[in-house]
Amino acid sequence: MKAFGVVGHPIAHSKSPEIHGLFAAQCKVDIDYKKYDVQPENFESFINDFFADGGIGLNITVPFKEEAFRLSAPANEKVKLSKAVNTLYKNEKGELIGDNTDGPGLVKDLSGNDILLKEKRILILGAGGAARGILPSLIEQAPKSITIANRTIKKAEQLKEEFSHLHSINVLGFDQVGVLEKAEKTESTERIENEPYDLIINATSLGLEGKTPKINNQAIKASTCCYDLMYSNKNTAFVNWGLENNAQTSIDGLGMLVEQAAVSFEIWLGTAPETSTIIDRIRRG
Ligand code: NDP
Repeated sequence: MKAFGVVGHPIAHSKSPEIHGLFAAQCKVDIDYKKYDVQPENFESFINDFFADGGIGLNITVPFKEEAFRLSAPANEKVKLSKAVNTLYKNEKGELIGDNTDGPGLVKDLSGNDILLKEKRILILGAGGAARGILPSLIEQAPKSITIANRTIKKAEQLKEEFSHLHSINVLGFDQVGVLEKAEKTESTERIENEPYDLIINATSLGLEGKTPKINNQAIKASTCCYDLMYSNKNTAFVNWGLENNAQTSIDGLGMLVEQAAVSFEIWLGTAPETSTIIDRIRRG
């Protein structure tokens, strides 16, 4: 049977085996997809052994996405930019290729929820690995503006610099979001920042503590979508924040999780699973 898996540390919580199992049943292919909890010092040798033993594909999760990028050849320009890999496979020449399906997965889930990004104003909260991973795909959708707010401003500035050749990015502290008086008052900032956002993405890990970034609710308007990359069986703190502040849509990242898995599955097996029924199934638990 074709061997696949997800590698992380820790990994017990991962829903990937269940999701890929449902895809395989739907597409009528036999796969063996396992969770692998690997110590950081063993990551590289694990990858080498897995593929040497005939493994077909691996998903990579926290904390190994950057190391997977270093160990593989990037599948495309977007991977080069994001410097993070969540999907590994060997090409026909036997080279280890790294792709990142998080951004395509997010865009697909957003469009599945009727959220299109062209000419939209996007606010990303957080500037860690997930923000970096989704930026190339968001930019590809030609939004009107992208603003990144982060606790550590330097990390947001770094992303702004790395992506500046593709799209201009505004950088703010959480306390400056929706509060024009406190924002950098350059002419362009003033023009751009005194409007609420069409899409607010929470890409911080604060939800793990049941918290949300402290931003002013003026950032929300009636048509805003609040999207939490984190997902949970019950509403996440950020989803609740969006609902409390009357965002039109406030959803978590379970759809993105399934969609990014579907893109990986298609890369490995050449078949795109139908995702909406699987999202519902995983949501029901
Ligand atoms: P990182 O550790 O790389 O980044 C964490 C981010 O959260 C940083 O911006 C960090 O700010 C911020 N942060 C952490 N603690 C605090 C705090 N106490 N106060 C303010 N800001 C804080 O994590 P990732 O980017 O990898 O993951 C972020 C989230 O995205 C996670 O919840 C993860 O589960 C989710 N995710 C979901 C996916 C999906 O398929 N749905 C896919 C990938 C990620 P600072 O820079 O200042 O440290």
